Amino acid sequence: MNHIFGPVNSRRLGRSLGVDLFQEKICNLNCIYCEVGATTRLTCERDEYVATADILREIDTYCADAQRVAELDYVTITASGEPTLHKGFGEILVHLKKVTAKPVAVLTNGTTLNDEQVREELAGADVVIPSLDSALPESFRRIDRPARCLDLEKIIEGLIIFSHEYHGQLWLEILFARGINDSEADVQQLRHVVSRMRVDRVQLNTVARPPLESFALPLSREKMETIAELFRKDAPDRPVDLLALGVQHKDDESSSKKFDLAGGADTQALLVEIMEMLKRRPCTAADINETFHLESPEKVKQLLAPLVTSGLIHTRTHNDRLYYQ
Ligand code: SF4
Repeated sequence: MNHIFGPVNSRRLGRSLGVDLFQEKICNLNCIYCEVGATTRLTCERDEYVATADILREIDTYCADAQRVAELDYVTITASGEPTLHKGFGEILVHLKKVTAKPVAVLTNGTTLNDEQVREELAGADVVIPSLDSALPESFRRIDRPARCLDLEKIIEGLIIFSHEYHGQLWLEILFARGINDSEADVQQLRHVVSRMRVDRVQLNTVARPPLESFALPLSREKMETIAELFRKDAPDRPVDLLALGVQHKDDESSSKKFDLAGGADTQALLVEIMEMLKRRPCTAADINETFHLESPEKVKQLLAPLVTSGLIHTRTHNDRLYYQ
């Protein structure tokens, strides 16, 4: 399976199956904090970058096992890039709803919502989680490094229109990087945009995992809490979540699968799953241990050592933690 991963246990969405529409990084942004890596195709074009039929076939193969579908809480459409740039996005979403009968969530960078067609396609999702990292052109350029074809004003207009048209859950995610998009003026302008939207939850994030650029630094816990308070003050009934506070990784994958490390075939299958996870985001040994319920982080290190030696997996230290990627 190239496009299906998980299911993973997410604090936000429960047991969620991931559908990744791309195999390479296709995006209209090249965010300094991106965990996927540098954008290889920086484009605003919607296209069928991967054959829709191939993705639908993979979904059907997965869904042939009714029992494992029954155990899912959500299906999440994502991408190594921006999923709405895939021209088959709407068809894939409709198909997922039909064959899984499960609620579908979409993670999007929110830049394509000024396109009426994209808004129509997204209307079928149960939860849409768009991002908006800055409402000021200079900070937006510095943190998200957009393709030339993007215009921040139009992006914001698209987000506002979509928020009022859409009937599902809308959770807006904002990621802050120290000294880049965290000034008083930045926060004030973001609050102003949010006040013009219909948003069910505001989700505040900061750089927690190894970012694409080493200058993408996290905010302090105090600063994140101060910003959260400001958003809470604006709408006391609307939840404001802090997705990352330095060392927090609890929102992430925690599969309920258990593996027998003594068994050769099981070990191979486990390594393939770990590699799939690392393709999407860097993880510590503790993250991997938590996800796959292995014996200990030490066991994970032993297991991955040959892959590190052979160069299949790389390691990188970030905030005094060793990450595999
Ligand atoms: S973080 Fe998301 S929107 Fe930003 S470059 Fe990476 S994939 Fe694209």
